[in-house]
Amino acid sequence: MLSRPRLTIANAARVFATISLAVAVAVAGSVAAFAQGVPVVRDAEIEALVRDYARPIFKAAGLANDGIDIVLVNDSSFNAFVTGRRLFINTGALMTAETPNEIIGVIAHEAGHIAGGHQQKLREQLERAKTMAIIATLLGAGAMVAGATTNSRGLAGAGMGVAAGGGEMAQRSILAYQRTEEITADRSAITYLNATGQSGMGMLKTFHRFQTALSLSGAQVDPYRISHPMPQDRIANLEVLVKQPNVDKLDPPTLQQRHDMMRVKIAVYMEGQAAAARLMQKMRGSMAALYGDAQSTYLYGNLAEALTKTNALIKAQPKNAYFQELRGDILMKANKPKDAADAYAKAVSLDPARSGLLPVSLGQALMAVGTPDSLKKAVVQINNGLGRDKENSTGYRYLAQAYGELGDIPGAELATAEGHFYSGDYKDAKIFAMRAQQQMKRGEPRWIRAQDIINYKSSGKSQ
Ligand SMILES: [Zn+2]
Repeated sequence: MLSRPRLTIANAARVFATISLAVAVAVAGSVAAFAQGVPVVRDAEIEALVRDYARPIFKAAGLANDGIDIVLVNDSSFNAFVTGRRLFINTGALMTAETPNEIIGVIAHEAGHIAGGHQQKLREQLERAKTMAIIATLLGAGAMVAGATTNSRGLAGAGMGVAAGGGEMAQRSILAYQRTEEITADRSAITYLNATGQSGMGMLKTFHRFQTALSLSGAQVDPYRISHPMPQDRIANLEVLVKQPNVDKLDPPTLQQRHDMMRVKIAVYMEGQAAAARLMQKMRGSMAALYGDAQSTYLYGNLAEALTKTNALIKAQPKNAYFQELRGDILMKANKPKDAADAYAKAVSLDPARSGLLPVSLGQALMAVGTPDSLKKAVVQINNGLGRDKENSTGYRYLAQAYGELGDIPGAELATAEGHFYSGDYKDAKIFAMRAQQQMKRGEPRWIRAQDIINYKSSGKSQ
């Protein structure tokens, strides 16, 4: 399922200290918005899909193609940005794109900027910064505030934020490529698409729509259009460049199906029933429409019915990890943690992308079962998930709770310290690490990890 982590004002303020002053000033206004809801969503299925889009392109561009972190920004405007190891993409961009090729084209263009060394200094700063600080930078203060106010209901109803005046200005000053850089990035993008046997038409389609000056996503301003200037001659140039042997090649049907499922999922979880119903109507009869229907029934309807629909999906695609995940979500909501744990365990074993999120879901279900044995299993699973995905702050909270229920207080303190550490809150991380150490044997592995946190020197001057 889609879920979002939380961050306190204090955490956010410290996070900002890790980026340059100019950037920090531009985003300072959005600190308050962090308190109301962080605009990041986590989802194993969508992260895996976007990573599959990026991997071959990054490889062709000579960039790191292992361990790319996909950061899904919950915003309905169109934006995408790559720092190197992290690829930030707005849910609005994923919703707007009708084919994988449109997103892959944008990723190829971003890879072109990296390979060309464009905005290198900013990129290096951002690479060192914590994820949340970068999102504030990319969205701009205006968008952050607008996003947060529509955002009180948890999963649904979010992401309606638009880039208001302040946000637009922040975008302009922080992230704007030169026209010559755009032409270089386009040319590189076509090279990577060609090398991976893919068409450049998706990229052209996307940029062409930007060039008409209408917002792609329905937002007032798409930040991507502001940071990537699209004059007429650039589009004309691109129209020539795309005429490669692969120009008419379509995405493989399985990839298109995954893309459709992703769009339906974003619609159901983020945009509500009506928007989801409209999209499902367009995809009538497809697996994506059936998937959206099962999810919609889970969120807004009857759980028994949702389970029946999900079981039918599993019958059609027995190896789909995310159908099992949905089954687990439904069973958790139906207060059947044991059955939910079985479904999540299947999801974990089927997940080709080895997402860290699924073992944490399994751990949660095992915690809800509540026997000493299942609590011990929960600790193993959550640690397994966090080993794959260290920045999952929610995971540490569950881990601390599981240790606590098992009576392992130093374990709980260390997990809490780790949670603070990975959200950039080093002061509280050190306090909990010291508390943990007081009850640990000096030199044991957990003591050493606590010591690492205590010794950690952050790069920010204020810390
Ligand atoms: Zn560009």
